[in-house]
Amino acid sequence: MEHSILIVGHLPFGQMIRTELQALTNAPMSLAQSAMEVNLAMQTQAPDLLIIQGDDLSLAQNCLNLQNRSNFQWFYSLVIAGFEATSKTKVTSHLTSQTQALEMGVDAYLNVEGDFEQEPYSLNKIYRPLLQAQLKIGLQSANRYRDLVQTNDLLSTIALVDPLTELNNRRALDWDLPRHITTARQDDRPFSLLIFDLDFFKRINDTYGHLVGDVSLKLLAARLRHNLRAKDTLFRYGGEEFVVLLSDTSNEEAGDIARRLCSIISNQSFTINDDLELSLTVSVGVSELKDSDDAEGLALIERADKCLREAKQTGRNRVVVYS
Ligand code: GH3
Ligand code: MG
Ligand code: MG
Repeated sequence: MEHSILIVGHLPFGQMIRTELQALTNAPMSLAQSAMEVNLAMQTQAPDLLIIQGDDLSLAQNCLNLQNRSNFQWFYSLVIAGFEATSKTKVTSHLTSQTQALEMGVDAYLNVEGDFEQEPYSLNKIYRPLLQAQLKIGLQSANRYRDLVQTNDLLSTIALVDPLTELNNRRALDWDLPRHITTARQDDRPFSLLIFDLDFFKRINDTYGHLVGDVSLKLLAARLRHNLRAKDTLFRYGGEEFVVLLSDTSNEEAGDIARRLCSIISNQSFTINDDLELSLTVSVGVSELKDSDDAEGLALIERADKCLREAKQTGRNRVVVYS
């Protein structure tokens, strides 16, 4: 992934930094010269490296405020200020400015000799290696952050997916169900839940072994997934149990969907390998969200589970809808 670099300051400063950066990276860069341009660039570009002209710290403050206010994405910020070596008072004021910038939260501050308002600004060559080194640190930090975000995204995905069936797992359900309930209540729409349990699955393991059991679970999960609407979400709830969340769906409609899925599973056998075809059936419990239910969905799951137990007790390969 490519970096996005925002240079904040006046034109001569922007041109000087652009020239220095071009020796280090091909990443796209843009220049923002006013508070308004900074606001716009921060929100449309989401830069991960900010290089800010230090003569006026209000723009740096502006960037950091935006980051704090809206959980704005991470960026590495480097302030670069010009100073005149001859003036003692200027040196003191630059030290104050440097302290302020670091206390404000910028990641690094660099003083280089010169006046950035001179056009074209040319950097005194004794400062060039220092500036290059600071820019490299900024780019490396941005790289490390990108890698970290990618690793985090990967870990979150792994944490929420069941490796056998590649369905969302129980942890994902615990996370998703309360959100579905909140949305259903906000929109005043019905919401229902199905719990499936494979019938006599232990026999399959006992008769054909666990590997065949695993393949059966994979095939069942795939068949369920292919026969759901795009807005329905399927989870592996536990061993041979699955949950489906049905947005915008009443009890009656959920019952129809459950019966359709039940038939789709029992009507056509599952091909395990060239020599083995297995007939599978499921029992299903169905329940709709009630106004009195808790926000986590525990009562909703409990009612569907009760229906599932009834479906098992009354013969399996059937659907029981909570009434
Ligand atoms: P019932 O109709 O009452 O649900 O009977 P059952 O045999 O399906 O139910 P039981 O709870 O007795 O057994 C469930 C079995 O599911 C036992 C367990 O070994 C098996 N199982 C759970 N997870 C997996 C898995 O990931 N792979 C395999 N192969 N088997 C699993
Ligand atoms: Mg079970
Ligand atoms: Mg079972």
